[in-house]
Amino acid sequence: MEYTNVRYKGVNGSESSRDIQRASVRCPFCKIQMIPKYLYSCGNKDIGVGVFCQCTNPSCEKPFLSEYILKNNMYMYSRVLPNLSLDKKEFGEIISEISPIFCDIYNQAYAAQQMNLSQICGVGYRKALEFLIKDYIMSGIDDDKKDGIKQKNLAKCIKEDISSPNIKAVAARATWIGNDETHYVRKWEDKDIKDLIGMIDLTIRWIESEVETKRLLEEMPMP
Ligand SMILES: [Zn+2]
Repeated sequence: MEYTNVRYKGVNGSESSRDIQRASVRCPFCKIQMIPKYLYSCGNKDIGVGVFCQCTNPSCEKPFLSEYILKNNMYMYSRVLPNLSLDKKEFGEIISEISPIFCDIYNQAYAAQQMNLSQICGVGYRKALEFLIKDYIMSGIDDDKKDGIKQKNLAKCIKEDISSPNIKAVAARATWIGNDETHYVRKWEDKDIKDLIGMIDLTIRWIESEVETKRLLEEMPMP
């Protein structure tokens, strides 16, 4: 592991230096991965320090703050601290068409996650999942049946209104973890928000495969 010596400014104005991990980071503005220019560091040296960095991409050069945590006498890279330019997840044409509101809620939850609002981003992901599943079901049924789906409990919709066994299996599990994020008592102690996001991503991939397969079969019916 490589280290770099960075100037350190104490709260009383004193100056010294600290060794920090020379980690490659993703610029929060231009999103390019690079070893930034380290300007100087400050913060509680016994816990960790914030390092003022500058992006080395010539068309960006924006400054940002990253955090290094003290571990075994070394400051190890932890994360780029949040700023107003949050990452957004882009969804493919199929998902954006089935449920634009899912994409919106998902990105609000993702924004909360990037701001370390860990207690509420799970609730957001759970809500996003409900819109994704219900909008997917409603994309394949008649208008007069849609109100019934909107009113129905999500777990019941997955059980009764989804025919694909893969979507059914994954979405059901995502719902279990999602419910854990909203309720006082957790049932799945060893699963967390990362698992929930992974299961939502998997649900998306199954929905996309299902829709793509259906389109292909419609375009090329059996002779
Ligand atoms: Zn940049």
